[in-house]
Amino acid sequence: MYHRNICCECIILQYNYLFHRLKKFNISTMNTTFKPADLMQDNQHFGEFGGVNPSISDSATYTFLHAQTMMDTFEGKQGGCYLYSRHSSPSNLYLCEALAAMEGTEDANVTGSGMGAITTTILQICGAGDHIVSARTIYGGTYAFLKNFIPKLNIKTSFVDITSLAKVEAAIQPNTKMLYCEVMSNPLLEIANVPELAKIAKKHNIPLVVDNTFSPLIMSPYQMGANVVIHSLTKFINGMNDTVGGVVCASKDFINATKSVNDGAAMLLGPTMDSFRSSSVLKNTHTLPVRMKKHSENAMYISERLEKDGARIVYPGLKSHKDHELFKSMYNAEFGFGGMITIDAGTLEKADAFMEMMQDRKLGYLAVSLGFYKTLFNAPGTGTSSEVPLDEQVEMGLTQGLVRFSMGLDNNIERTYQGIKQCMIETGIL
Ligand SMILES: *Cc1c(COP(=O)(O)O)cnc(C)c1O
Repeated sequence: MYHRNICCECIILQYNYLFHRLKKFNISTMNTTFKPADLMQDNQHFGEFGGVNPSISDSATYTFLHAQTMMDTFEGKQGGCYLYSRHSSPSNLYLCEALAAMEGTEDANVTGSGMGAITTTILQICGAGDHIVSARTIYGGTYAFLKNFIPKLNIKTSFVDITSLAKVEAAIQPNTKMLYCEVMSNPLLEIANVPELAKIAKKHNIPLVVDNTFSPLIMSPYQMGANVVIHSLTKFINGMNDTVGGVVCASKDFINATKSVNDGAAMLLGPTMDSFRSSSVLKNTHTLPVRMKKHSENAMYISERLEKDGARIVYPGLKSHKDHELFKSMYNAEFGFGGMITIDAGTLEKADAFMEMMQDRKLGYLAVSLGFYKTLFNAPGTGTSSEVPLDEQVEMGLTQGLVRFSMGLDNNIERTYQGIKQCMIETGIL
């Protein structure tokens, strides 16, 4: 009987209490300086049996004590009840709560991948005949979805240089339904002026959707006026490279709309995250503040030194980065300038030799993705951005010799720096 009592009706109370608290906390911190990590720090739950980690909800479906409650849940009259795990599960909601706290949004919804979060959001907002204005330097998968996939649904996209606010505004049409960008673009590390883009979006009454995958904790786009913030959890947030995952952080109304059993994109397209995974990702979010600081510290260390050595290096923390000041006007300084660096090796041949040599010398892995304990590197012209046609890559400055680094958590960063420098010398880059 004891366990039977911990059914949905009790959970509603617990859940509502937690969200209520979270909201209250947000209001008191919001208009001063937003501290995303402070909200995450207060994320504390007792497991079902008093464990320090919440129990994993190993169920696809949920019982009801009363048939009427089930009917009401179906009809959306009864909030907070678990019905079926494609809609939500206790484990997923714990992770959602942690990520909503990180972005300072009312609510969040986790998905099976970052692309699941992106496609769900786009299809929730846009339909046939609609138009999107998007940054042209975005994740290759997102670019391919906008460019090749949704035209089949008669949704068209104008790709613009997001650093030109005039070009962004000029691209907005009467049927434009969304402004889309990444805070720190992939792979060129351009910085979007989120507060100004939010003003443009507001003026035209369209949502600003921001992918913050490269800069969790460092940037808080929702606090700067964005309406929806997306992350691929696969990268820094999970940080272990053992799973894919995604999240949409937004208002309660928007998240609820995506989960509607009648017309919600998340509910109907079904990109649900599995409870076992969300429970494992949740545990990794607890170390995110520590990891982000270390990624940033190591990236800064390497960038400053390699720049002095004469490398063609792009890092937002360097004064030479064209958006350095803009970055500083937006970031949560304690987390630094992030873990992403690009180095121009000159040619694809040199880039390849450089990456293979670094991997041989245990400096990292020649692999796509980012946010791992070990440094990851790839040549995005041929890898992650291969969906972008060659002439467009040239136009945006994505050269074939560009090597993208996701700096690892190396303890002895001086040794890593010496190692990378030696590889650059031996491959003729320096
Ligand atoms: C990896 C990535 C995605 C896609 O996420 P998946 O989890 O691989 O589906 C989206 N945006 C950015 C910026 C990414 O780096």
